[in-house]
Amino acid sequence: MKVYERFFIGGEWVAPAGNGTVDVVNPTTEEPAGRVPDATEADVDRAVEAARRAFDEGPWPRLSPTERAAVLTKVSDAIKADMQGMAELISTEMGSPVSWGTMGQVLAPTMIFDYYAGLASSYAFDEVRAGLLGQILVTSEPVGVVAAITPWNVPLFVAAAKLAPALVAGCTVVFKPPPETPLDAFRLAELFEEAGLPKGVLSVVPAGREVGEYLVRHPKVDKVSFTGSTVAGKKIGAICGEQLKRFSLELGGKSAAIILDDANLEETLPMLLPNALMNNGQACIAQTRILAPRDRYQEVVDALSERMAAMKVGDPLDPTVEVGPLVAERQRDRVEGYIKIGQEEGAKVAIGGGRPAGLDKGWFVEPTLFVDVDNSMRIAQEEIFGPVLAVIPYEGEDAAVAVANDSNYGLCGSVWTSDPDRGLRVARQVRTGTYMLNSPIPIDFATPFGGYKESGLGREFGPEGLELFLEQKSISLPAGYSPDL
Ligand code: NAD
Repeated sequence: MKVYERFFIGGEWVAPAGNGTVDVVNPTTEEPAGRVPDATEADVDRAVEAARRAFDEGPWPRLSPTERAAVLTKVSDAIKADMQGMAELISTEMGSPVSWGTMGQVLAPTMIFDYYAGLASSYAFDEVRAGLLGQILVTSEPVGVVAAITPWNVPLFVAAAKLAPALVAGCTVVFKPPPETPLDAFRLAELFEEAGLPKGVLSVVPAGREVGEYLVRHPKVDKVSFTGSTVAGKKIGAICGEQLKRFSLELGGKSAAIILDDANLEETLPMLLPNALMNNGQACIAQTRILAPRDRYQEVVDALSERMAAMKVGDPLDPTVEVGPLVAERQRDRVEGYIKIGQEEGAKVAIGGGRPAGLDKGWFVEPTLFVDVDNSMRIAQEEIFGPVLAVIPYEGEDAAVAVANDSNYGLCGSVWTSDPDRGLRVARQVRTGTYMLNSPIPIDFATPFGGYKESGLGREFGPEGLELFLEQKSISLPAGYSPDL
């Protein structure tokens, strides 16, 4: 059991202002896995003050991007040196199977750190442009103090998606991880401290929603970078809108995988299924609506059923396990609630639907496949966030696109076909921020990722992800002057 008594604020491990604590419970054993202090508004005040001072007066924003990148590289190397340990820690917090988590929860964040460390030397922070009226220096400056608010499902991954570009940009950060997964966030703070990050550049204050909202409203925060539910994102966007504070939102999804009538299922399903059920179905980009041509519907259902029935459910620390428990009892209640709703709506459970036999402890739900699903049903419209898939029939390519687009969300999606030209035609018509055409890769960190519609605002990753943390300033230069950049 990992216990932290102090917060990482202003580069020091400091005693909390309040005496509340957060218990981290292992979702596999239902036993305590750790305890951390619960941040209060006073702790957030201290963290924001430290970040403000470090931004206004400290060395960090004044270092070159490559000097800042060197710290990211050290942190990335330290994570790589203990991939297994970090994967097990995250798995203990939230149940991600290490068979997926070593790559998805740990290697991926190091790739994000490395990508932004590399971008530091190639990105044009200063650019002299020939304007219409004269020479202009367009310079990109850090946006200021960043509040980074993250969810529990891919905790280190989302932290990296915010901290890496924010820090390369020269921002200072108050990082508020969720109460479910504070342990890996504190581990990350230790790694930044060991890597020599100047004091105040990063503070880590785990807390719940109310204190999170206090951080969002804080007048000394310049920018909010949020990943989480659409409900919370709307609230945060409204607060930031009132204050004209910069903000970016990565929110929920209900992505559709379109299986075209010419798809080869033997090739498709090994790429599609891991993307549909990744992280025990607790993934924003999960392909949870499977759109099957009506004349191949039964074939698709049979092939999916066979593979899902064979998936190993159990202890996520067992490297052969593919599906672990849900993060918390309330999350299992939510998922089981949706399974009931789906049946009440008239959909049928082809596989799963209950709790796996032989697992008396832990918040497990069987991989569940719903058939005879209409896209208007709640199980096809709402984010369930568990190992539950819905197979929806369609007739004709245009109908498939229409069903895929009939969603408030627009985060990810995929198309599977033996004709890539046809697939690309479909990909261009689906209104989502990322898309897979016969590809198992939902996100490439060198390219933008984010949501259309209620799935978000702004794009993380790629140069676009850095630009979320930059302000552009145009400086008109005198004739004949050539700045030394
Ligand atoms: P959540 O919205 O309940 O919480 C996310 C974070 O926001 C937590 O740290 C929480 O404490 C904080 N929070 C909640 N309400 C807040 C408010 N009003 N003000 C300030 N902070 C607030 O989401 P969750 O259940 O932790 O995470 C699951 C959700 O995250 C799913 O909807 C999933 O799709 C989404 N998600 C999206 C992406 C993406 O990149 N688009 C990635 C991962 C998860």
